[in-house]
Amino acid sequence: MSKPEILMPKAMRDIVLNGLEARFTLHKPYEAADGGEAISASSAGVRGLAVLGTRIDAAYLDKFPYLEIVSNFGVGYDNIDAEACGARGIMVTNTPDVLTEEVADTAIGLLIMTVRELSAAERWLRDGNWSGKGPFPLTKASLKDRTLGIVGLGRIGKAIASRAEAFGLKVHYHGRNQQAGVTYPYHATLKGLAETVDTLMLVAPGGDETRHMINAEILKALGPTGILINIGRGTVVDELALIDALSNGTIHAAGLDVFENEPHVPEALMALPNAVLLPHVGSASVSTRDAMGQLVVDNLVSWFETGKAITPVAETAAVTRRS
Ligand code: NAP
Repeated sequence: MSKPEILMPKAMRDIVLNGLEARFTLHKPYEAADGGEAISASSAGVRGLAVLGTRIDAAYLDKFPYLEIVSNFGVGYDNIDAEACGARGIMVTNTPDVLTEEVADTAIGLLIMTVRELSAAERWLRDGNWSGKGPFPLTKASLKDRTLGIVGLGRIGKAIASRAEAFGLKVHYHGRNQQAGVTYPYHATLKGLAETVDTLMLVAPGGDETRHMINAEILKALGPTGILINIGRGTVVDELALIDALSNGTIHAAGLDVFENEPHVPEALMALPNAVLLPHVGSASVSTRDAMGQLVVDNLVSWFETGKAITPVAETAAVTRRS
């Protein structure tokens, strides 16, 4: 029996490449001079996609008449129109859980870096200022006595919350729904949360629904001692409003791992001393990225061997294999 055909629009880690080549006929259009034409030429028999960041919308799906499954590298899948996939009976999978602890660790690291200005302090030492100008200036902010408002108390949000509690922070949260099994105070509105806490931790997914949730009004509600950390998706924050709030002292500081138009970061943001900026490294360790890559492969193998995906996204949870 011939192997199912899988197409990988962009190169991925060896663990994905080798895992897929061992089980499937793998198309790699990125190796061709013209990736677009190569996709059209190789699309006819493709039944699965292995995706890293590629925008999968209805027009893209039209290229693949026999497509059954899209296996996404990453827990966030705002690059994929999952509703359009569901409507066509196409399964979408992501890589939850295997990255939760890593991302939560990065979030706490970014929070402490931002509150205590640790990256600026290190630059101070490396630039020779410690021996030249003297000690690094005392930080205005301290982690002690802060109240953390988590926006999106899902898998990663909960892992951040338990770490934050260990640091003595009080935790509150906002989401569309109150979470079962937690005792943290729930705020039905984002503004209500921002008015109550002095530190906001964003872990909600990207997409139209959360786009620019953090705007000038929310930043004003957070206030002048406020600290904003974004480990979720860049599109959740109105970057121009944030630049304005950081420049004018509307909030105290921000720590960002994600940006609206990655990998491009506005010059105005780069120039701000009260912004700590990381290049989207939330899950970026070898072991975690390998675990994510293995799950991309395992979802495809499971789908074609058993007819079931391991980690389907909510929008396609009811999709079943046609053949
Ligand atoms: P999850 O378990 O699905 O949690 C997402 C949370 O967001 C849920 O609690 C959900 O609660 C809330 N939410 C969804 N839509 C919302 C809305 N419109 N307003 C407010 N809250 C909303 O996902 P996860 O595994 O924790 O991952 C969360 C996100 O982190 C991913 O989608 C991804 O974008 C991001 N991420 C970033 C990195 C990085 O490297 N920086 C790495 C991994 C993940 P309700 O349903 O109750 O609203």
